[in-house]
Amino acid sequence: MRVLAVEDEDRLLGILLRTLKGEGFSVDGVTTAHEALEQIKLCHYDLIILDLQLPDGSGTTLLRQIRQQQRKMPVLILTARGDIDSKIENFEAGADDYLTKPFALAELMIRVHALLRRGPLIQDNILKVENLELNRLTRQVRRGGKRIELSPKEYSLLEYLFLHTGRTLSRSMIVERIWDQSFEGLTNIVDVYIGHLRHKIDEGFEPKLIRTVRGLGYSLDPHLK
Ligand code: CA
Repeated sequence: MRVLAVEDEDRLLGILLRTLKGEGFSVDGVTTAHEALEQIKLCHYDLIILDLQLPDGSGTTLLRQIRQQQRKMPVLILTARGDIDSKIENFEAGADDYLTKPFALAELMIRVHALLRRGPLIQDNILKVENLELNRLTRQVRRGGKRIELSPKEYSLLEYLFLHTGRTLSRSMIVERIWDQSFEGLTNIVDVYIGHLRHKIDEGFEPKLIRTVRGLGYSLDPHLK
């Protein structure tokens, strides 16, 4: 699960990142609305934690922009503003939860887990990393707007990588998930299929998105070096 924290208070952002990492989340932190929009273009997030008063604008405006882009991941507002007008405005803008500062980290984490449990019901159907796009309803894949034909197994493998963007998936995890079998005797199949995917989605495009993490496995991540 990948979480984006948007918070301009350095100390609080540090606490959020440490706490979420400690609970096993992949987490990115940004301090402005502009950076948040850029980051959302790059990565698939399962949840956004959003402060309302940001140096370059309001979190509410950012939330509206996110919803206009048809991105449906849960958004939890974290703010010093506890008045009912602000709550109404933000829920109407598409917030899923609202927590006022000061808050207890334990309560924040309970809410994060509760929102993520609902995840599948409100999950984004269109996943995007850079200019690679996967539609989970139609099972269509596009890169730079160009339609890419994948076999069912190739599609499943790419979707699995997408849903764990930025995380390394081992060969055994991939085999168990995609081939529904144990790892025994299937050592090479993952490498073969990753090869097919690379040929179709990375050849002739930049940046390369499928990374080999030596000794560990593979990941979909434009940032991983
Ligand atoms: Ca703030």
